Amino acid sequence: MAAVILLPGREKSMHRRHPWIFSGAVMKTAGEAAPGETVEILAADGNLLGRGAYSPGSKIRVRAWTFSRDESIGPDFFRRRLEEAYRNRLSVIPAGDTAFRMVHAESDGLPGVIVDRYGDFLVGQFLTAGAEYWKATIVSLLDEIFPNQGVYERSDGEVRLKEDLPRQTGVLSGREPPDLIEIREGTLKFLVDIRGGHKTGFYLDQRDNRIALMPYADGAHVLNCFSYTGAFAVAALTAGAREVVNVDSSADALALARNNVELNMPGGAGSSYITGDVFTVLREYRDAGRRFDLVILDPPKFAESRKHLEKAARGYKDINFLAMTLLRPEGVLVSFSCSGLMTRDLFEKAVAWAALDAGREARILKRLEQSADHATVLSFPEAGYLKGIVCRVR
Ligand code: SAH
Repeated sequence: MAAVILLPGREKSMHRRHPWIFSGAVMKTAGEAAPGETVEILAADGNLLGRGAYSPGSKIRVRAWTFSRDESIGPDFFRRRLEEAYRNRLSVIPAGDTAFRMVHAESDGLPGVIVDRYGDFLVGQFLTAGAEYWKATIVSLLDEIFPNQGVYERSDGEVRLKEDLPRQTGVLSGREPPDLIEIREGTLKFLVDIRGGHKTGFYLDQRDNRIALMPYADGAHVLNCFSYTGAFAVAALTAGAREVVNVDSSADALALARNNVELNMPGGAGSSYITGDVFTVLREYRDAGRRFDLVILDPPKFAESRKHLEKAARGYKDINFLAMTLLRPEGVLVSFSCSGLMTRDLFEKAVAWAALDAGREARILKRLEQSADHATVLSFPEAGYLKGIVCRVR
């Protein structure tokens, strides 16, 4: 097996159980390793620190599979990791719920591997050279652990390109998935397009937050910005919202939002669907004097890289400012950022700045984060990307 030998002092991150080894930390590579093959990770003094997947084309040169010198990497290793990930989900996902994230990459000791469950189908993303190398093994283990489940691939994220991997989608095992899969979260039902939907089809990471906003929705007029397929709308209506206005730039997403609302409340009680740019629609509503009791803001990633951070902060400020101008006195703002680079501190500063400009006082009622099936291990804080706040706005 080839070995990657680290520069003196650069073994510290391995001791802290952080799985990424950047190219700048590598002193030399001994032996030949193809993309995705397992390499030993050695400190400069020759001490064996663990084993990981080699990514010759990426700035993250090695991702550790294990921090143990005694653990070898093969089918048994992946079986243990997958079974453990599933066990962990059983403790955080209510029985009867049919959709959740089963494998959250580094947080489950499987860098580059994402597996989401949607009813009878598993959707996999294999995002790194190592994940790609072991894909067939992982799929056959999933077949064994979850017999009769189809496995569908959605390895179409940008990150694959950084690993010199082409985008790939399609059936990995079992039958073709239907156009839409019905899933259940508590009493809420949703239709998911695992072939063409965002990410693996649905924002599973917002599951706890759908529940978190329910206490504020009863009797409310709700503005659901960046609604996608209407998941927050369904939660708000179920909790007794009088009206939900959904705004998204995608007409397809809104069409599915309408189906989702109809599925949960036949007749579609008090919902409307506006195709447009949220920034424009909010300005129009402000100028027309429209007011809401609850505004939800769940925009796409504004910060793709560190150099966009300042611009992103301004984007969050602008959108939260507009939302606040539309809130009735004592109204509630539920605002998110899914940019990993945007720290909670910076995000809350942007919202504070918005309140100041809007001449409103925003009091935090609750801080929100990604759901527990999208676990973050403390040694790998990068896994925590979603942050949100619920504010009472006076
Ligand atoms: N809240 C959703 C997820 C939102 S994803 C849920 O819980 O399921 C972000 C959404 O914002 C996408 O559906 C995308 O189509 C939409 N979007 C991106 N930029 C937009 C813009 N400027 N105006 C309106 N919608 C936008």
